[in-house]
Amino acid sequence: MSELTTTDAAELGRLLTAGEVSSADLTRAYLDRIAADDDAIGAYLHVDAEAALRSAEQVDAARADGGVLGPLAGIPLALKDVVVTEGVPTTSGSKILEGWRPPYDATLAARLKNAGTVLLGKTNMDEFAMGSSTENSAYRVTRNPWDHDRIPGGSSGGSSAAVAGGLAPWAIGTDTGGSIRQPAAVTGLVGHKPTYGSVSRFGLIAFSSSLDQAGPMARTVLDAALLHEAIAGHDPLDSTSINAPVPVLAESARRGAEGDLAGLRVGVVTELGGDGHTEGYEAGVLARFAETVALLESLGAEVRPVSCPAFDLALPAYYLIAPSEASSNLARFDGVRYGLRVGDDGDRDLDEVMALTREQGFGPEVKRRIILGTYALSSGYYDAYYGQAQKVRTLITRDFTTAWEDVDVLVSPTSPTVAWPVGARVDDPIAMYAADLCTLPASLAGIPAISVPCGLSDGLPVGFQVMAPALADDRCYQVAAALEAAQDAARGSRFLDQLPVRSAA
Ligand code: GLN
Repeated sequence: MSELTTTDAAELGRLLTAGEVSSADLTRAYLDRIAADDDAIGAYLHVDAEAALRSAEQVDAARADGGVLGPLAGIPLALKDVVVTEGVPTTSGSKILEGWRPPYDATLAARLKNAGTVLLGKTNMDEFAMGSSTENSAYRVTRNPWDHDRIPGGSSGGSSAAVAGGLAPWAIGTDTGGSIRQPAAVTGLVGHKPTYGSVSRFGLIAFSSSLDQAGPMARTVLDAALLHEAIAGHDPLDSTSINAPVPVLAESARRGAEGDLAGLRVGVVTELGGDGHTEGYEAGVLARFAETVALLESLGAEVRPVSCPAFDLALPAYYLIAPSEASSNLARFDGVRYGLRVGDDGDRDLDEVMALTREQGFGPEVKRRIILGTYALSSGYYDAYYGQAQKVRTLITRDFTTAWEDVDVLVSPTSPTVAWPVGARVDDPIAMYAADLCTLPASLAGIPAISVPCGLSDGLPVGFQVMAPALADDRCYQVAAALEAAQDAARGSRFLDQLPVRSAA
């Protein structure tokens, strides 16, 4: 059974539809892998084997009855623990939500349930999605399946480790400043951050509401597109949800895989690892990036450098805007409404209980962000910090708008480095934040961006980022699929086939 767990989801769907495998067998194969490997990898915070098998059997029964099922029916999946799931523990990686079982499903969780997917479990993450290594989780350390001494990226590191390690065929992550793309890059997956507002945020535990987006993390570009299509589309429950038709993504991925990029205009962002902007970038990352740009040219793309000067300010702008919004969003965790409550012994007043709960319930990085954000928003400093950061955000958006006059997509490395050793950056927040250098501009502008594997450096995966104008997510998939197909053909195997399977299962 274990080869099933290294099969892509599109193929699993075909096997299910053809009756060559049952959802129950498939689900059992993943649960066996989780039982065998997750002590070492640490991808999951919660797995309910019985519930998973029960929903798998329901899909099998419906199929046996001749019911018309969608293409995703019976395929297992994992959700980042920031996604609210009815009756299933949801912590956002924080002690403050320990024991909370939400009374409702996030819109994307409901859509995936209705599509007949089987929830294997909830994946580990940096507390409230703040981090780039998953080490800020209040619960456990997650290991990179390529090298257990290294981080799986973050904040969706449980999702990336689960998919790369064969503990889920695909997973949902969320991306505020890079948390889908960077973990995908450092574990050899495809990860896409959709256009802001194109996937419902209803039922995602909010970090920074003007930036948060959920999206797919998968073994292939086509899988990512299929999962993305299943969660996209307007939702009246999310006031920022765009009321536009669901884009045609799987078809773009299939077309892209044919490999013809003739006439596509590609801009290579100078400020993201280009001449004069290589500080902090590993040589191996820049080498794989340059090779992949050359590959785009060989597929017919017209490549030119594009300068986006305001991108140099993306990091400080993001680390003012995101903490500011977080300081407001996290005010709701008061020890009254959800999860943890500390010191409620009858002798303390409400303020003391709230203070004790927040003191013990939040970890150090979350406290740092709340303090930073509260300061940036305080009267007297608002204009100098939050206001300035918003102006920079506008300049970044303008750099993109100008670029789109000349090019169809912009490209960069996804992350300046490969996965670093566990522990290497935990005491250095600035070094941790530097992991987001390449992913932040797209986040601040709300545009779509994908990370696709582009080779190895010292035996570890490197990611290639493709950014497109708002609502042109299909272009990201098309270009990524062309690159994936060309690289697979040259290698004679899929990218993840290079990852030795260690499992005992
Ligand atoms: N690493 C970034 C941060 O810590 C981005 C996190 C995210 O996208 N959720 O804020």
